[in-house]
Amino acid sequence: MTTIGILGAAGRMGRAIASVAEAQGISVAGGVDREGAVFGGQADAAALAEACDVLIDFSVPAALSANLDAARAAGTPIVVGTTGLEPEHHALIDAAARDVAVLQTANTSLGVNILKALVEQAAAKLGPDWDIEIVEMHHRNKLDAPSGTALLLGAAANRGRGAEDGSSLNRLDRMEAGLVKREEGGIYYSSLRGGSVAGDHMVVFAGDDERIELGHRAENRTIFARGALKAAQWLAGKPAGRYAMNDVLGL
Ligand code: NAD
Repeated sequence: MTTIGILGAAGRMGRAIASVAEAQGISVAGGVDREGAVFGGQADAAALAEACDVLIDFSVPAALSANLDAARAAGTPIVVGTTGLEPEHHALIDAAARDVAVLQTANTSLGVNILKALVEQAAAKLGPDWDIEIVEMHHRNKLDAPSGTALLLGAAANRGRGAEDGSSLNRLDRMEAGLVKREEGGIYYSSLRGGSVAGDHMVVFAGDDERIELGHRAENRTIFARGALKAAQWLAGKPAGRYAMNDVLGL
């Protein structure tokens, strides 16, 4: 049976993962947070990596480098669920994936990964004259905006349109710069923050005289925890490489 180790164990997701693991009878070797051991007694990521089969990291981008180093040194696969990652973090993941299995995903839920596929398909069929707006809402304590999931959905839409990456625009940044008019072909993000919302996403395709709205609402964090544990069990024993949720879900 796969034994997991949780990084960011004192956080909302860390606690949700520990609780779903217990309910599913999955063995947890320990949990580490900024101050050290939360449970299990390992003082840091390096010690935890030695004690488990797979690490699950839902912490902060600043902790990623040390967490990947720990995974690499111990040869322990790692699931990275932390969002707010910049290109330099993705470069660290690519480098670590040369030595150990790394699965990075901004959203572990089945529903959002299905939504991603639908968005890609719709964007491919509709073409660039349908404007794409992505609206997301999360709880008041979320650190990053737009959410990693909103960016993942935007990237799927861009892929559907045949673009590598490109025209993804954060409405707030543009408004600060005094740019309010929509740019043709742009994918715009709007982020709402408040209350205890686990994660709502809506992708609006706006054409002339008609609109398609594809959305997902996370009712609580259990869906992410279940997905993270499924990903961890799938990743255990996999060879070095970079993996995504599509690989786990066969999408
Ligand atoms: P949170 O703020 O409740 O928890 C983050 C935890 O990381 C905190 O306890 C913090 O003390 C800890 N931490 C900080 N530095 C650390 C370090 N150096 N080592 C270990 N732990 C450290 O946040 P959360 O709501 O649990 O979310 C965590 C991350 O997961 C966020 O980036 C969030 O966006 C992301 N998230 C991803 C998914 C997904 O499906 N991939 C779902 C939900 C949330």
